[in-house]
Amino acid sequence: MKFMNDKKIRLIVTTCILTLVLIIGVITSVNFLKFRNYNTEFVVREDVVGKIYKFSEFSKHLKGDVADSNIYEIQGTDNTVAIVKKDKLANYNKIDNIKGLSVCGVDGSSQYDAAKDVFTSNINVLATANDVYENVKSGTYEVGILSYKEAITLINNDQNENVDISDAIVEKVPSLLLIGGTHPNEPSGQLAATVVLENAKVKRGILYVITELNRSAYSYSQPQEGTTWYYHLKTKNGNTRTFKYGSRATNTVDQWPTPDVYTHSSGQQLSSSEVRNINRAYPGNEEGTYTEQIAWVVTNFVNQKDVTMVIDLHEASPEYLTINQCVYHQDAADIWSQMKINGFRYYNPEADKTQKLNMPADQSPLNMHGLTHREVGDYTNAYVFLFETSNASQGKIRGAFTEDLIKYSAPDKFYEALVKYDEEHDTSNIYGAPVEISERVARHVLSFESVITGFNKIKTTRVVTQTGRDNVGDGGVYVGEMILEEGTVPSYYDLIKYGVGNYLLDID
Ligand SMILES: [Zn+2]
Repeated sequence: MKFMNDKKIRLIVTTCILTLVLIIGVITSVNFLKFRNYNTEFVVREDVVGKIYKFSEFSKHLKGDVADSNIYEIQGTDNTVAIVKKDKLANYNKIDNIKGLSVCGVDGSSQYDAAKDVFTSNINVLATANDVYENVKSGTYEVGILSYKEAITLINNDQNENVDISDAIVEKVPSLLLIGGTHPNEPSGQLAATVVLENAKVKRGILYVITELNRSAYSYSQPQEGTTWYYHLKTKNGNTRTFKYGSRATNTVDQWPTPDVYTHSSGQQLSSSEVRNINRAYPGNEEGTYTEQIAWVVTNFVNQKDVTMVIDLHEASPEYLTINQCVYHQDAADIWSQMKINGFRYYNPEADKTQKLNMPADQSPLNMHGLTHREVGDYTNAYVFLFETSNASQGKIRGAFTEDLIKYSAPDKFYEALVKYDEEHDTSNIYGAPVEISERVARHVLSFESVITGFNKIKTTRVVTQTGRDNVGDGGVYVGEMILEEGTVPSYYDLIKYGVGNYLLDID
């Protein structure tokens, strides 16, 4: 009788445990599915962001998939553009297709001067931007030359909207692609790209921003790390913005099976875990693995748009050697030199306003393949940079994983101890002390601005192309400077002083 009772109790206990496991399993699965499908919101200023390209326009198999992310385009307000009738847009997307057409422009405008060098036929002079618009709309002239700001304002104000901006490049200007979200466990890269997307205005040149490069890697978290899934930041008005903390690699749901060895197109062999790391998959391949398909978006986009500069934003653990550092492709060495001459340093305002944190740099190793600063530099005309800041939540010495750890809004006692140990024993266990998220974002935003300044100083020439690859600086044309509208991108000090949340816009 006693035996029966014991058996019964064991049965009840086992059933209870199994039921509990089932409940926990179901709740976790539902939450995880919610996490996978959660779309981080970014504010798109309609008056500033012109086009939004989908990744699938540049790597076709991604269409409609989780990785079909966005590339936001911010045109310089002074850029010279051609407007044409909407129904002719497809035919008039190349400069050679519109060169022989009847053209009108505003007398004395810098855009008229820029277009004079391109159009072989006479440009008919009109008094105002509105006259140019109306004449193209009525069909009197086939092409109108305007500044981007004039064109977009007139198009947006027109109810009928039968005129649009052609893709034809009338005046070649420099451009920059800022990449955030390469590794979703490195939050300051995404946040810096978001700050630029939601604040920057461009006067001359074109800025392209990616806030989520590997959206598949944002759809799950790194196994065995026990990471927090979301983190939150308060905007200036006290509203909450939610961001995801994902994984370093593409989700296995999207790319499976994983081979034991990943052989890169260069022949380089890496361990299987790297087969889903997008920063080992460049130049990418439209027909390759899922990760290679995403990497191909960058290479293909940079070539198609003839992008001048590419910046890939990262973070690393404080004990990692390449920290608070710049890695550049050898073609970008002159820009880096100019950045150094201009005194580019990370400052440490907490310690002393005059104290500067030295900014080490490495030229991209020639035989290390698959990284942006190697392959995008080799396979395109762009000058490519990668920056790293110090992120405790990626580290192996950290304590409990919390939202505070991601933001480093409270010190981690293990990192604090090791930093102190290094100071006392003159050792280098830590290469870059972990800092708060606002300071990490500040470092990235400063790097972004400094690359532009460095580029403007070298006055490099570029071959004017619509597509394809040409030699840089060899018989090319000087395309002038890239100019941001002053005060639109927050400064290093302001980002630290007011916090990154202050520069995130409210979601409507
Ligand atoms: Zn990274």
